[in-house]
Amino acid sequence: MKKCVPDKCNASCCRYAAIVIDAPTSKSDFEDIRWLISHHNVAVYKDLEDDWVLEFESPCKFLKDNRCSDYENRPYICRDYEADTCTQNRRGKDSKILFEEPAQVEAFVAKRWQKKKPAAKRPASKNL
Ligand code: SF4
Ligand code: SF4
Repeated sequence: MKKCVPDKCNASCCRYAAIVIDAPTSKSDFEDIRWLISHHNVAVYKDLEDDWVLEFESPCKFLKDNRCSDYENRPYICRDYEADTCTQNRRGKDSKILFEEPAQVEAFVAKRWQKKKPAAKRPASKNL
């Protein structure tokens, strides 16, 4: 198991909150995502395990000088966190799909639901 490297640590794992959300399947679901990421410091991405994640970039209140000021009392999620999944330089590198701007969702939806051209009619056969 990897260990944290304090000298290189920028405490990025303490600078956001994230939850797994239902995978979007409909245009309406993506419209909700477009609304979510219209807010500052909010992103939605599909990670390498195919989970869809809603992330808020917001530093923990206990983060002081890049260190946890409540280390002995830190929540379980912080205790369970492993350096293998160190989040330094995380965004965009460990996601299959990343939405940070509403226009990205619009482009994604337009591509996924683009209207297919109707098949060209075959000329009527001549019974010669
Ligand atoms: S409680 Fe401590 S370890 Fe957990 S996110 Fe906040 S600063 Fe980081
Ligand atoms: S996992 Fe968190 S504490 Fe450990 S090196 Fe990475 S950013 Fe720093």
